[in-house]
Amino acid sequence: MTQLDSPRFDNSYTALPERFYARQKPTPVQAPELIRINRALATQLGISADWLTSPEGLQVLAGNEIAPGSMPIATAYAGHQFGNWNPRLGDGRAVLLGEVVGVDGQRYDMQLKGAGRTPFARGGDGRAPLGPVLREYIVSEAMAALEVPTSRSLAAVTTGEQVMRDRPQPGGILTRICSSHIRIGTFQYFAGMDDIEAVQTLADYVINRHYPEAGESERPYVALLQAVIGRQATLIAQWQQLGFIHGVMNTDNMLISGETIDYGPCAFMDAYHPETVFSSIDRGGRYAYINQPGIGQWNLAWLARALLPLLDKDEDLAVQAAQQAIDDYVGLYQATYYDLMARKLGMAASDESNTALIEELLELMKESGTDYTLTFRRLSELAGPQGPIEGDSVADIFDLPASFAPWQEKWQRALEQQPASSAERQKQMLALNPAYIARNHLVEEVIRAAEDEGDLQPFHALIDRLASPFDYHAQDARYAMPPTPEQVVRATFCGT
Ligand code: AMP
Ligand code: MG
Repeated sequence: MTQLDSPRFDNSYTALPERFYARQKPTPVQAPELIRINRALATQLGISADWLTSPEGLQVLAGNEIAPGSMPIATAYAGHQFGNWNPRLGDGRAVLLGEVVGVDGQRYDMQLKGAGRTPFARGGDGRAPLGPVLREYIVSEAMAALEVPTSRSLAAVTTGEQVMRDRPQPGGILTRICSSHIRIGTFQYFAGMDDIEAVQTLADYVINRHYPEAGESERPYVALLQAVIGRQATLIAQWQQLGFIHGVMNTDNMLISGETIDYGPCAFMDAYHPETVFSSIDRGGRYAYINQPGIGQWNLAWLARALLPLLDKDEDLAVQAAQQAIDDYVGLYQATYYDLMARKLGMAASDESNTALIEELLELMKESGTDYTLTFRRLSELAGPQGPIEGDSVADIFDLPASFAPWQEKWQRALEQQPASSAERQKQMLALNPAYIARNHLVEEVIRAAEDEGDLQPFHALIDRLASPFDYHAQDARYAMPPTPEQVVRATFCGT
């Protein structure tokens, strides 16, 4: 192994007490092959793309070799899954190789997902089928391009082995990067065992790694709770404004850093309907689009509960501080969401009148089932001084229903009250309203091509297209189009 080129690991989580993780090497695979590496991300992380694509790099990305400085572990966590408490989950099939410090000076986890069984695997095989690996790669990178905080995908490999789900499938391993993999469920794991010392150790670690400002506060743990609540409120507001449905908002899938993680049965909504659910395992619609903000608060209440002993020596005061922070979530979420929505419509910020305008638009969209993404994109085009943009307008593939005309007039009048020029307005809108999202039928299509025909070209093409979601080109209309009735994917399967 060329010591020079491999990532420079700088591990801190392994310095935490033994009960935070299990030392666990990845389980080697038979015949790994590289599918893709993310060169731009490698550069940001200060990792050599040439090393990643080298034979040594491949062996590390497949879990067959341990790079120098890597101290592989599986982390411990608990969580509420669909509302049900599970005191011990942990990384059942993911192995944290170590941490790297990016060129931005920030610390990042480098993890292999699908790297074999760990002490937390319970009944699972520790593996990941290729389909979900490709899905996570596509959607996480699409989210990053949409400027949503998210885990990233550095690389994907095939294993040359089969994994058994409802049928045998090719196996894959994803190299996942995020600011850390600490979840609400990590706090719950220790709180659930009344291990207050560990809760405090973890809280101190998190303050140091993610929220140093909280450390300066008079009540650092209250400040930590508030900071996490602020980031989660912002994150979920961003999901909502893009029509993104996470699908498995269990407390073990919510990162303390406020990044999106665990792209399982997730999807972007095509036709707008607030009750949209995709996940085949979400029978009650717990994680439906419209429920996401409320579930976010429910999850954060569990974080607050786990932190309770640290919030104040006086139990009543601790409960009061927790309650206040949890109550504040609603206002934080709404302010961020309505501001984003107002800006999507060309306004400077939200106020009472444009909040009503947003609600009226959503009601019209719901009644007519218009495509969420294209509605906002088309409005962006119509907001400009020259009206539709010749040639590269989504008008060729989508137009607003006639029933929107009265609303559009009201909107135009509201826009005229704004200080910005129509050119500035349009620029703002085109930069906030993507033409391309990771549409479910497109994701399915590339997975089918990969699994059924071994053809990865459609996967690469989709990722390349989604890397610039705000630049519409008529020749790529296919990637912007809503699904035809035959293409609609009604359920996404966890089957991971
Ligand atoms: P997820 O649905 O990916 O968020 O996983 C929920 C829990 O199940 C986590 O503790 C995972 O590590 C574990 N898990 C999921 N799939 C597998 C698998 N194939 N083998 C072992 N553990 C798994
Ligand atoms: Mg998970």
